Amino acid sequence: MRKVLAVFLLVSGFAFAQPHPTADLIVTNAKVYTVDKNQPRAEAVAVIADRIVAVGSTAEIDAWRGSDTKVIDAGGKLLLPGFNDSHVHFIDGGLQLDSVDLRNTSGPDDFARKIGERAKITAKGEWITGGDWDEEKWTPPQLPTRQVIDAVTPNTPVFVNRYDGHESLANSVALKLAGITSQTKSPAGGEIVRDKQGQPTGVLKDAAQELVFSKMPPLSHERRLRAAKRALAHAARLGVTSVQAMSADYDDIRVYSELSERGELTTRIYAAPMLATWKTEEQVGIRRAWGSPYLRVGAMKAFADGSLGSTTAYFFQPYNDAPNTRGLLSEEMQPLSKMRDRMMGADSAGLQLCIHAIGDQAISTVLDLFTDVEKAHGASDRRWRIEHAQHIAPKDFDRFASLNVIASMQPYHAIDDGRWAERRIGPERIKTTYAFRTLLDKGVRLAFGTDWSVAPLDPMKGLYAAVTRATLDGKNPNGWVPEQKIKLPEAVEAYTMGSAYAEFQEKEKGSITPGKLADMVLLSDDIFQLDPRKIGDVQVDLTMVGGKVVWSRGAGD
Ligand SMILES: [Zn+2]
Repeated sequence: MRKVLAVFLLVSGFAFAQPHPTADLIVTNAKVYTVDKNQPRAEAVAVIADRIVAVGSTAEIDAWRGSDTKVIDAGGKLLLPGFNDSHVHFIDGGLQLDSVDLRNTSGPDDFARKIGERAKITAKGEWITGGDWDEEKWTPPQLPTRQVIDAVTPNTPVFVNRYDGHESLANSVALKLAGITSQTKSPAGGEIVRDKQGQPTGVLKDAAQELVFSKMPPLSHERRLRAAKRALAHAARLGVTSVQAMSADYDDIRVYSELSERGELTTRIYAAPMLATWKTEEQVGIRRAWGSPYLRVGAMKAFADGSLGSTTAYFFQPYNDAPNTRGLLSEEMQPLSKMRDRMMGADSAGLQLCIHAIGDQAISTVLDLFTDVEKAHGASDRRWRIEHAQHIAPKDFDRFASLNVIASMQPYHAIDDGRWAERRIGPERIKTTYAFRTLLDKGVRLAFGTDWSVAPLDPMKGLYAAVTRATLDGKNPNGWVPEQKIKLPEAVEAYTMGSAYAEFQEKEKGSITPGKLADMVLLSDDIFQLDPRKIGDVQVDLTMVGGKVVWSRGAGD
């Protein structure tokens, strides 16, 4: 049948003038799910250079076929727009792929053993970092201490972070290099955890981590480059065709720029350095979403508070399991006028604001600040973002919507935190925790991502989390706070168009639409037909960025 059609087209091609040039690439025999309301489903896609030129039936797209057209037969599989992760720590992720993995240690002994093994292969003068430990997985949960690892690291400085990045453990060597003693005071927005004798245990929370970070040798350009390459390969394999790199160092951007120039960026990057540095971008006239299709800047990231796991997310009411605290406003927010001035400055310069806020009062305070900026500068299309937006006070949803603030959220965190969040904040506050459903119903735009390396970069895990809310411990098979589940098409949209919108790129990517960049992924299974419980195991068979195949199962690593 198809052969007959091809012959017919060939003949008709001779008989009539070609209506259009031939495609460089055709993906055919696919179930195309476009995330474009004008044409939700199709069978095939034609690409010229780095753009999609046509989306339609197999026959329609065959008309774009020429003698040099590369054809990918999708074998009836599902083709989606590439995933756009709206919140990653890309270099950290690459470094994590390269560093000691403490994520699944069974307890303090196992923790010490892994660090000890690493110390044996660590060059003199080099630090052991990374780790992403999670004491909540130990029975009983208990924060690690320097005493646990000192014996196996007598000469190697260690500073390994909790998986959420809000606390880290230093060994005695590192504490000494940082000059931290029983006399050292905790800085604003941070805490030096102490034992009963008043001695530092080695755990440093939030801003206190800076006491050690500031004494660590900076990452070399080569190390960053290696990390970026690891991260790019990982993203390609997982179908992540765009990332929005939060809290990026300018040295990271230098690496991305170098890779972009060499044509080695296989994932598009929108980099958001810290708001405190906004003048650096303003001075050279950089505005929101400035750059090339592969590398953009012009967004600024700031922190309003800490994390739920570290009891540093800032709430109106105290923590249920730590009634002496309701969290901490970040150092950047103390005093508030400091943050307001920076936001005003960056906004005047046309820069986009991405503010990390997790606790309900932190979110509320950021909304207050956004309101102040809007009052001062007038309304416009700014696409302010609250990163994480985890625990929203019921009174704030309408404000969130009316200020057009984007909720940049990471569904995987919900099924992770859902294991213990209720113990921490109680039965009432969890009702509006990771409130995907309420946010969509209120008309707030969602942009999905992972916070990698805090959580896995795999978009399938995020989709699974958003639609099932089944916690990782298996205790909530029908969903933790199930009222906040969303439907798979909504989750896919948040992970594609939603994230594209959050970086001002909804006309360039986010759907399979003629004229847009040819960023697409082919999945091993049709997630729309699958039992939702299995979505997290679906794999990416092929990843295409700008019409180039950057990963294909069997051909890749
Ligand atoms: Zn983050």
